Amino acid sequence: MRPKKVTKSFYNPPTLVMKQALAALYFAYLVRWSKLPHWLLKGRKTLPTAAGAIGMGCIGFPIHPVWEVTTACNLHCRHCHASGGKPSAEELTTEEGKMLLDQIAAVKEFRMLVLTGGEPLVRKDIIELIEYASALGLEIAIATNGTLITPELARRLKKAGVCDVAIGLDAATPSLHDYIRGVDGCFDRTMQGIHATKEAGMLLQINVTVMRHNYHEIPQILDLAHQLDAEIVLLYNLIPQGRGAEENLEILPKEYAELMKSVAERQRNCYPIIEPTCAPQYWAYLTGQDGRTPRVGIASRFFKGCVAGRGLCYIKPNGDVWACPFIPVSAGNVRHIPLETIWRESELFQTLRDRKNLEGRCGECLYTEMCGGCRGRAYAHTGNYLAEDPFCFIQSNLRARPSEAYAFYQEKSLVPDISKVTPTENHPNPIIHEKGK
Ligand code: SF4
Ligand code: SF4
Repeated sequence: MRPKKVTKSFYNPPTLVMKQALAALYFAYLVRWSKLPHWLLKGRKTLPTAAGAIGMGCIGFPIHPVWEVTTACNLHCRHCHASGGKPSAEELTTEEGKMLLDQIAAVKEFRMLVLTGGEPLVRKDIIELIEYASALGLEIAIATNGTLITPELARRLKKAGVCDVAIGLDAATPSLHDYIRGVDGCFDRTMQGIHATKEAGMLLQINVTVMRHNYHEIPQILDLAHQLDAEIVLLYNLIPQGRGAEENLEILPKEYAELMKSVAERQRNCYPIIEPTCAPQYWAYLTGQDGRTPRVGIASRFFKGCVAGRGLCYIKPNGDVWACPFIPVSAGNVRHIPLETIWRESELFQTLRDRKNLEGRCGECLYTEMCGGCRGRAYAHTGNYLAEDPFCFIQSNLRARPSEAYAFYQEKSLVPDISKVTPTENHPNPIIHEKGK
């Protein structure tokens, strides 16, 4: 049975859209984004995706749930935090999925929903679930490897209610993408999915996972996203979780700092908005770059940094609720506790919402509100999701009680002073040598 519309539209109240426009303008000012007018004209499609957003943050900042509908997947990506392959035990059934969607729609802050996996399109009831969620009034984004999207499926997804298709693309070179994704020929099928998405008129988002294997190729991937006319690029910095922890795939803190700086430079002439993810220091970096006096008060209104538990909840295939896909800690299960109760009252979410609980440098930092450090990275490196982010390059000199992980990197001189990272430095990342391109 088709449910009644419950969720408010993205333009209700209109001040929400105003806030999003102001955040985009402030961001454009900080990075000197030449493509903003073009993006605003063509990027109207982003409004449903940003439904309810009150600023910019990691994994976007519409306050929203992400539902990992299955761990089943037709690829075998090296970095997969969900260790995708076979379906996991006790995945929510279609009826339980609809109950979950009812619970999601009951939380008034949630206006959009991301469906992910595994590969969400291998779930046989995916169209039925999308139609149900859409009838509730939720805007739907789907995060997929793109290989199963034919022109016909793209049209069906759009008709069912999908507004944003986020497709994983980890290289500009087919052989490297196939290597990272574990299946020969998948680059070509992903590109077919990308073209089908554009032809069907949905927003194209490209999701890249930055890791040791593709670090050198990030400039080419961003160029490709630009050529493909993607509206959004989420540049995930690999957090060692799931299969991503089985090999040493994470880039070094020094490379990470250089990447943030080079992404800001690249943004100037790049059409898609590039949002570094698992990288909340980016926003703090933007406010203080080029010797500017950081306007922390203003910037904190627009930039929210880490959204774990504050702007995001992540529902696992069995109904467990996490604060982020990179913090494998359950705050409860929707089979036993309503999602709204977990979202509002669980200890995990309440603790993450109050940044006074952060430890180490993150606990005494000027940028706590707009950054907060990546809680997933803190957890992966220390087992404590409140610990300081060991990859912070903003406060490397802050009077601090450095964590063991940070001390390890500092000892090896891998923590950079960002002011000394220059485009002429002899570094293997070609993005550094292409300033102004
Ligand atoms: S824990 Fe990391 S990946 Fe998750 S929302 Fe926070 S910054 Fe983003
Ligand atoms: S110390 Fe923590 S909150 Fe401050 S900039 Fe670094 S990571 Fe962000």
